[in-house]
Amino acid sequence: MLTPQEALELVIGTALSLPPCAVALEQADGLAAAEDVVSPGDCPSFARAMMDGFAVRLADAGATVRLAGQLPAGAIWDGELVAGRCVEILTGAACPPGTDAVVPKEQADRGDRGVAVPCSIKPGQNIAPPGSDCRRGQRVVAAGETLTGMAVAALASFGLQSVRVTPRPSLAIIATGGELASPGQPLRLGQIHDSNGPMLRAMARQQGVSKVRVWQAADRLDAITAALDEASELDIVVLSGGVSVGAYDLVPEALARHGTETVFHGVKQKPGKPLLFARKERRLFFGLPGNPLACHLGFHRYVAAAARKMSGRPAWPQPFQGQLTAAIESKGGRTHFLPGRAEPAADPPAGWRVEVLGGASSADIFRGCRANCYVELPPAARTCQAGDICSFTWLLPGPWSP
Ligand code: AMP
Ligand code: MG
Repeated sequence: MLTPQEALELVIGTALSLPPCAVALEQADGLAAAEDVVSPGDCPSFARAMMDGFAVRLADAGATVRLAGQLPAGAIWDGELVAGRCVEILTGAACPPGTDAVVPKEQADRGDRGVAVPCSIKPGQNIAPPGSDCRRGQRVVAAGETLTGMAVAALASFGLQSVRVTPRPSLAIIATGGELASPGQPLRLGQIHDSNGPMLRAMARQQGVSKVRVWQAADRLDAITAALDEASELDIVVLSGGVSVGAYDLVPEALARHGTETVFHGVKQKPGKPLLFARKERRLFFGLPGNPLACHLGFHRYVAAAARKMSGRPAWPQPFQGQLTAAIESKGGRTHFLPGRAEPAADPPAGWRVEVLGGASSADIFRGCRANCYVELPPAARTCQAGDICSFTWLLPGPWSP
C-alpha cells in the first residue's frame, strides 16, 4: 500500500494543467497567468506632475513669474511654457512642453505680482518622465504567477480588458449511500442526513473551483454510473462512500464500468485508508470513504492538491511546524492526520501553538469544527508530549499556504 507521500506524488503527477483561455480582467483575480504579460507602452505615457504646484522653467529660478493658467489632471495645455511664466498644475496632469520642474504649492509664494520660484529648483523635480514607472516591453507578470489585485491594476493601466489564464477546474460531487436522506427530509430509522455533500461543496468553493454540482446516488451500480455519466462534463469527480470492501461498496466497480483507469486504491493513512484515485483522459476521479473525517482529509490532502495543479497553481501543501499544546497518543503503523487548531504563540520564541481536536473516530467531525489545520503524525510516532514539535498543513488557502 502507498504512503500518503507516494499517493500525493501520484495525484500531483497525474493532474494536468487545464488548457489556457482568455478571461475578462474582472474575472482574473486569483487565477494563474498562462503567459508572461509585458507592457505594451511606456507608463506613464507623458511627463506627469507628481505634486500639486507650479510648472516652471529652470531659467526662472529665483524670479517671480506670471501665472499663465491652471492645468488639472486630464486637461491639455495648449502651447509651450515660456520663460517668465508658470502654470498652476495638479497632480497627475501632463506637464506642458518646456516644463523643467514642478515646484510644490507649499514651496512657492504666490502674490499679487505672480509666483516666486525658489532658487533651489532642480531639473525634472516632481515630474515622472514617460516610462519611469514601467518601460514598453517590461515584464510585469510571469507565466504561472497568481494575478493579484496589483497585477490586475497593472494590466488595467495598460488598457487590457482580458488576460490569458489557466482556468480553475469544475468539480462533481456524488454522495453515495442507501442511508442518505436529502436535506429537510425527516429521518427514518437507520437514515442519516448527507453531510459529506455539503462539506465537499464548501471545501471545493474554498479552493476556488469554477463550478460545483452535487448528486446523491443509492448503493446501486446503475445509480452510481448514471451519476457518473451526468457528471461527464466536469473535470474532477469526487465520490463519497462505497469505496471499501463491503458488499454494497460499488464505487470501484462503477468507476471501472465508466471506463476509468485506477491509479491507486488504498493509502497507509488514518483516517481514510480505502481512498481510490482513478483517471480517464484528463479527468480525475476520487473515491473518498464515507466516514466524514476520512472524506474531509481525502479532499484536503488529495483533491485540493489536484485542483490547484489543474489551475496552474502550486500544488504541494506547504508543511508548517508548531508546538503541541497537549499530549496525544497515536497507535502508529500508519501516518495519522488529526484536525487541529493552530494559533500564533503569544510569547517568544514566535511560531505556532497547535491544539489537536478530536480524531478518535473517523466519523467525528464535531470536535473538528474549529479546526484550521491538519496535524500529521508520522507512522512511527506513538505518544507526543505537550511542547513537542509537530508538522501541520493549513485547511484554508492563505498568505502562508499557496
Ligand atoms: P461507507 O464509506 O459508504 O462505508 O460509509 C462509511 C460511513 O460513513 C457510514 O457510517 C456512512 O453512513 C457514513 N457516510 C457515508 N456517506 C455519508 C454522507 N454523505 N454523509 C455523512 N455520512 C456518510
Ligand atoms: Mg456506503
